[in-house]
Amino acid sequence: MKVEIPTFPYLPKRFGRLGELAYNLWWSWNAEARSLFREIDRTLWRRTHHNPIQMLKLMSPEVLAERAEQTQLMELYDLVLAQFDQYMAPQETWFSRTYPDCSDWQLAYFCAEFGVHSSLPIYSGGLGLLAGDTCKEASDLGIPMVAIGFLYPQGYFHQHVGVDGQQEAVNERLNAFDTPVLPLYHENGERLLVSMQIGTQEVKAAIWKVQVGRVPTYLMETDILENEPAIRNLSAQLYGGDQRMRLQQEILLGIGGVRVLRALGYSPSLAHLNEGHAAFAGLEFLREKIQQGKSFEQAFSEVRSQMLFTTHTPVNAGHDVFSFSLIEEYLPGFWNRLGLSREEFLNLGASPEPGFFSMTILAFRLSAQTNAVSRRHGETTRTMWHFLWPHKSLDEVPIDSVTNGVHAPSWIALELLPEIARYVGADWVENQDSTEIWNRVLEIPDDVLWAIHFLLKNKLLSFVRERARRRWVEDRIAASQVVALGGLLNPHALTIGFARRFATYKRATLVLQDRERLKRILQNPWMPVQIIFAGKAHPADEPGKLYLQQIYQACSSPELGGHLAFIEDYDKQVAYRMVCGVDVWLNTPRPPLEASGTSGQKAAFNGVPNLSVSDGWWAEGYNGNNGWTIESDSDDDRAVAENLYDLLEYEIVPLFYKRDAGGIPRDWVRVMKEAMRSAAPFSARRMLKEYVDRFYRPKRTLEEVVQES
Ligand SMILES: *Cc1c(COP(=O)(O)O)cnc(C)c1O
Repeated sequence: MKVEIPTFPYLPKRFGRLGELAYNLWWSWNAEARSLFREIDRTLWRRTHHNPIQMLKLMSPEVLAERAEQTQLMELYDLVLAQFDQYMAPQETWFSRTYPDCSDWQLAYFCAEFGVHSSLPIYSGGLGLLAGDTCKEASDLGIPMVAIGFLYPQGYFHQHVGVDGQQEAVNERLNAFDTPVLPLYHENGERLLVSMQIGTQEVKAAIWKVQVGRVPTYLMETDILENEPAIRNLSAQLYGGDQRMRLQQEILLGIGGVRVLRALGYSPSLAHLNEGHAAFAGLEFLREKIQQGKSFEQAFSEVRSQMLFTTHTPVNAGHDVFSFSLIEEYLPGFWNRLGLSREEFLNLGASPEPGFFSMTILAFRLSAQTNAVSRRHGETTRTMWHFLWPHKSLDEVPIDSVTNGVHAPSWIALELLPEIARYVGADWVENQDSTEIWNRVLEIPDDVLWAIHFLLKNKLLSFVRERARRRWVEDRIAASQVVALGGLLNPHALTIGFARRFATYKRATLVLQDRERLKRILQNPWMPVQIIFAGKAHPADEPGKLYLQQIYQACSSPELGGHLAFIEDYDKQVAYRMVCGVDVWLNTPRPPLEASGTSGQKAAFNGVPNLSVSDGWWAEGYNGNNGWTIESDSDDDRAVAENLYDLLEYEIVPLFYKRDAGGIPRDWVRVMKEAMRSAAPFSARRMLKEYVDRFYRPKRTLEEVVQES
């Protein structure tokens, strides 16, 4: 197997390793490396949306040569490389310390989407961002992990919103040569391909590699000459196409994914499936073992003991179901390869609805260990799938939970990091999951924290205005749209952020329930309030698109415009600016449908308090002082909205505007600090340590694992 990092011919010798750095996404969560790329060319850095590969390609040789003469910049360069080398070849890691005799142990992490960086748009929402954060944290902790997913040549769509609030999906072909993905070749120079049967076709997939720190992530793509035209389109879009497309993608992800592992010489001790999309991986593991001569029973118990399945949503649409006839059409006679009858095979995924095959049920059946992603979601999930274990009581349903967390070094604003290093400790990254060290946040002087937050808010607002202006200049949008896109936002007003996929259960429009009351709150001349929205609706989700339209129309309406704004094309970069730049993070899902809601955790790490209904992570994150919980026992949206308005009007707004003689809102800053102080348990570091210690358990031998399950 061969991978080659392209050379940048104009790179001066002194900058020789910049390309290597650009092709390992480690840079994206190392503060010094981020500064290095930014300082090389601030304008291009902004224009390329923080894409070092594109930036290096666009820079002129003269400018690069001139930069290589700057002493300070070169000192930074040397420092970053020293850190990089140390990171990539560490003396020891948390994993090697904790599990000293487990160097052969290996994890394969499957997911249909990965949100590692905005220059690689192969994610749609929380699941993908979580997968990206998991790769980064696994890298930091030294967990021997390899990740498997897709390269979607068209990525996920970019969003424009028309004057009437209609979402327009813009599909842009991904230029692989502008992103940190590298094609894999055989030693003889041929592309490395895996092949599998889908229906009557032989399908081939090319493999790309993304290096996420120490974790290699392999992405499959079918748009290659070796495939028929219809197959070439198979991996084009994330969550695009119809049921047939979806099923074929899932065969590719599961069965193809295992073949990728084998082609690269991996034999993972455990496969961690994220969502049911990859459940066919279990069938491929079964087939391998049966081909080796094992009985079905033996193979089945071994496979089960080597699979962990995490379910990420209680929303029905999140669980793929295919008709038996589709399954038969695309996996013809697969049961023969497992030594099963057709009925036995289909029963592995049979859903309560006769004639349908559920990927989630298949994943539950094939995995000895399963979990949900917050305590509350655990309860909901056990109730939801209780019927699969009819002889067990609800409490005994074998679905555990591990609460999600976010990769703090990626999500905490660059501008905040020096203060965190100074007060929380230079070793905060290593110990970020310790609640104790975060107590030191209380020592950050109020005026310092407030000044940094105000700077971040201004950065968010200039980012928003710059985008609105660009749309005005380049696309000649109407003036009302410039307002809707945030052209008039006020840096001194209390600013609320609401950003998430426009799935209806997230109830984006809840805050618009009583427009008169909302208007009074927003337009209070002494204590103005504004709300910034962002989020995409899935192109096939008509009700979701309608919600988005209502929000957008409110943003451009004469009565609320200027106080409400919508940022187009929500992605990782927009999320980063928002979670550190707003004053309050709002979340109003319909309980218990929010499995976790990691964006609120990102806000908390930045000292942005949450204002949320009690669901997902917030049901365990709220401690009475670190934000506000909206009462949502009622099914009546109006009652929930009333409680939201009450909280804003009587508590949140007055607290924000209560200033001391120096203009510092002391009591508000106390809530900000409390938000940060209580965020430690919601770090990806805590989450992954929990996965390793409670579920991956590298010390166990295969025999022990099989016996246990
Ligand atoms: C964190 C994140 C999400 C998930 O956040 P939720 O709170 O689950 O909505 C979705 N999209 C982006 C771009 C994110 O950064």
